[in-house]
Amino acid sequence: MKRQIFTSVLLCLTTLAGYGQSDFDKYFESKSMRVDFALVGNYEHQTVALQQIREEPVWGGPVNNLIDKFNYGGYYVKVYDKSSGNMIYSRGFNTLFEEWRSTEQAKTETQAWTNSISFPYPRQNIIVDILGRSNDDMQFHSLLKIDVDPNSIFINRDRLKENKVHEVTYNGNISDKVDLVFIGEGYTAAEQEKFLNDVNRFNEILFKTPPYDNHRSDFNIWAVELVSEESGMDISGKGIFKQTALNSGFYTFGIERYLTAQDMKPVRDAVWNVPCDAVFILVNTDIYGGGGMYNLYAMGTADNARTAVVFVHEFGHSFAGLADEYFTSEVAYDDEFYNLKLEPWEPNITTLTDFDSKWKDLLPAGTPVPTADNDENADRLGVFEGGGYLAKGIYRPKAHCMMRDYAPFCPVCTRAIKKMINFLTDKN
Ligand SMILES: [Zn+2]
Repeated sequence: MKRQIFTSVLLCLTTLAGYGQSDFDKYFESKSMRVDFALVGNYEHQTVALQQIREEPVWGGPVNNLIDKFNYGGYYVKVYDKSSGNMIYSRGFNTLFEEWRSTEQAKTETQAWTNSISFPYPRQNIIVDILGRSNDDMQFHSLLKIDVDPNSIFINRDRLKENKVHEVTYNGNISDKVDLVFIGEGYTAAEQEKFLNDVNRFNEILFKTPPYDNHRSDFNIWAVELVSEESGMDISGKGIFKQTALNSGFYTFGIERYLTAQDMKPVRDAVWNVPCDAVFILVNTDIYGGGGMYNLYAMGTADNARTAVVFVHEFGHSFAGLADEYFTSEVAYDDEFYNLKLEPWEPNITTLTDFDSKWKDLLPAGTPVPTADNDENADRLGVFEGGGYLAKGIYRPKAHCMMRDYAPFCPVCTRAIKKMINFLTDKN
């Protein structure tokens, strides 16, 4: 009798713990559906055109947290079960294209850029809705809705190039861990050992940095060897072009230090068979620079004196949706990048139009809003004017932070990073 009670308690616990997993099993298989699409547009408008749907062999994301809790990003994907109409997956993301749309060039040209999203592979027919955020109301509006039959013969099931994948650190089940994948760019076949040494160095950098230092066991670290024909990187502004695996380069939008990969297809092709919650593109050069977009990728260079802090800063953008807190450096965007009449979506900047939704709960009683930027307040959490590329109208949480000038992360950025780790590891 005693034994029987014990068994039913155990069963009960298993059922509770497994609730999300059973939801996952009801709607999804443990592999990925990848949707490649073109974002087509200019300064005024944009649209989405479907390019391909792929079946890929691994889903490394959460299995309980299938519905987004953050509402971050310039774009959003919602997946609905077609027969019930239930939303069964959602997630926000950024693209480089949305940044391009705010440049001068986009006022006179229309362009099409390839992007890509992945979600767990559905068992039944689904509707995929890709939405873009409008700067006018900060809401998401549908850009493309498609019906997808997971058994369709039009889904591409090709295996892609089997790059050598290294398990740098394995701390447990891929759905319970943040799977961070490093991919090498500008490393020739003879430089792959250097790539692995660089990854090990970056791995140590990340987990020496608060708050990641307390979350080492929440991550699995993977390294994908991508072979470039030539060593180094495009520096188009100086007439230097290198044949590299992801065709990335400096001088994005004319800004020398802004290092990005424009086309997402080769990036996603590189991780097609690897569990992947976050991508860092490690570039084989000693030049200063980097870039990072929420839930897309971050990239930085391997051998610059400031490599360590650039890595952590750019990863802050891509991993936790953090905004730049600086406001004095040259950028390519115009001053309408943020709509000052509404609250930006990033957790670490505010226009004070809805400060309750930001870090008001963290402010010590009596903190003046806004907070004067002087020596006395240098170490205090407050509301400091200047951030998000603008000296006026946008406020940041602390005088100095990793997202401004490579100081340690402020408490607001720290909280945002921890929340994302918890989300991706299915902790809450
Ligand atoms: Zn911060």
